[in-house]
Amino acid sequence: MRIAIAGGGAAAVALLDSLARLDARPASVTVFEPSARLWSGRAYGPDLDAVRVNAPPVIMSIRDGDQGHYARWLGERAAAHLDERFGVPLVPRAVYGEYLHEVATAAAARLPVDVRRDRVTGVSRRGVELVVRTSGGHEQAVDRMVLCVGGGTPHDLFGLAGTPGYVADPYPLARTVRDVPHDGAVAVIGSGLTAVDVVVALASAGHAGPITLMSRSGVLPHVWQRPVRHETRHLTAARLREVRTTGDVARLVRAELDDLGEDFDAFAADLLATPLEDPVVRLRRQLAAIDAPELGRRIVQQAAHTLGPLAWSLLEDRDRLTAAHHRTAVSVSSPMVPVNAVQLGRLLEAGQLTLVRGLRAVVPSHPGFRVTARGGGPRADVVVNAVNPPPHAVPEAAASLVASLLAEGLAATGPKGGLEVAPGAALHVVGDLAAGGTFVTSSIPAVAAQAAATARALIAQ
Ligand SMILES: Cc1cc2nc3c(=O)[nH]c(=O)nc-3n(C[C@H](O)[C@H](O)[C@H](O)COP(=O)(O)OP(=O)(O)OC[C@H]3O[C@@H](n4cnc5c(N)ncnc54)[C@H](O)[C@@H]3O)c2cc1C
Repeated sequence: MRIAIAGGGAAAVALLDSLARLDARPASVTVFEPSARLWSGRAYGPDLDAVRVNAPPVIMSIRDGDQGHYARWLGERAAAHLDERFGVPLVPRAVYGEYLHEVATAAAARLPVDVRRDRVTGVSRRGVELVVRTSGGHEQAVDRMVLCVGGGTPHDLFGLAGTPGYVADPYPLARTVRDVPHDGAVAVIGSGLTAVDVVVALASAGHAGPITLMSRSGVLPHVWQRPVRHETRHLTAARLREVRTTGDVARLVRAELDDLGEDFDAFAADLLATPLEDPVVRLRRQLAAIDAPELGRRIVQQAAHTLGPLAWSLLEDRDRLTAAHHRTAVSVSSPMVPVNAVQLGRLLEAGQLTLVRGLRAVVPSHPGFRVTARGGGPRADVVVNAVNPPPHAVPEAAASLVASLLAEGLAATGPKGGLEVAPGAALHVVGDLAAGGTFVTSSIPAVAAQAAATARALIAQ
């Protein structure tokens, strides 16, 4: 079987690693990647050392079913990157990119892999074959195609593209902070993990001006707690296969906490207070709880990454959950690492960082920008867009490819966006573009699990 993979980021690495570990071998695997970030993708290329991975090693293994794979690779490197409060190593993103690179290189040594530095622009059917076309004018016939093209870039909510002082996409952060005047007023649109990255990057560069995080909800990511080993007895993959509603999932969490002697009602009430509580007060409480012995939040966060995608596909009331608790669920399941939370807390206490809720508008006001928000808004010299794209957004680089797949009937648009592919089809999608996934950006375990399932399906076909 001849396989084409569009995109050479973390999802492609996970797929190659899975294919290399199966007994059957494809006849050829061609990876198409136009950018300079082969194997590291958008997230793990060279950038500031201050910007680290967002999760503990147990969540960062690219090998499905082997949670210790990344920690073993880290080995002696771990000591140099220990986050004291977290009790685990958190490496700069580029170091994680080296891990991906090594995994991909090892897999490529066992598979007939060819890498083309070219962007896939379209695919058409020719009998039972697919013909892949690239921007460089290359055409190649394959039997199967896998899309590993990643997610979108931040949406331009206020139509500011092209305005001097507006940073449309903060990555790489090294470039963003280099272009910000040392004591300029920076306003960041968004208050999620990307916004936290921007603050940490500015602080690491010694930025002296005021920084404002602005969003509608003002909700910050929760803060990871120090990992504690716990084998769940109720919130397990087997039990989650039986759930139908969020109530069923809550009952499993309650049973888990009952066994531990923890108060489920107090835990749930605290989560539901997320959008209502003052975010600065909440951050302070969460900083104090990094070492807290209660396991409830740790269990839910770990499960969100490892079991979340499985449960999500079964929930009949997922639209209601998304409508009512979207910000809370994203904040809990995509937490910030303690080292970043400490930095935010320090800047907030010092008054250099402020949070603005109820953001309504950002307009150019020569010079700089004027912000309209509930209770007034700041003036800014620079506005950084840190709005997270919805998980099923089509990346710009894949727009013509996706259009051709829809036109050829090789894929359809899912009811909530993303691409739907019929079972047994010649096309597969791994990562955020796959329809039907949760509303949270795919984390490494989710991407690895999807990639492993895709590798098995490819070989079975
Ligand atoms: C800044 C950032 C930090 C993150 N940190 C973490 C973290 O610490 N832990 C975690 O679990 N998750 C994290 N994530 C989530 C992240 O989405 C996944 O970890 C993972 O990187 C997704 O990999 P991917 O291969 O699907 O996408 P990407 O890494 O984006 O790779 C997609 C690749 O496809 C290429 N491409 C696009 N279109 C085409 C085309 N038409 N033809 C050929 N190639 C194409 C692109 O050039 C790109 O290199 C982070 C995400 C971001 C953006």
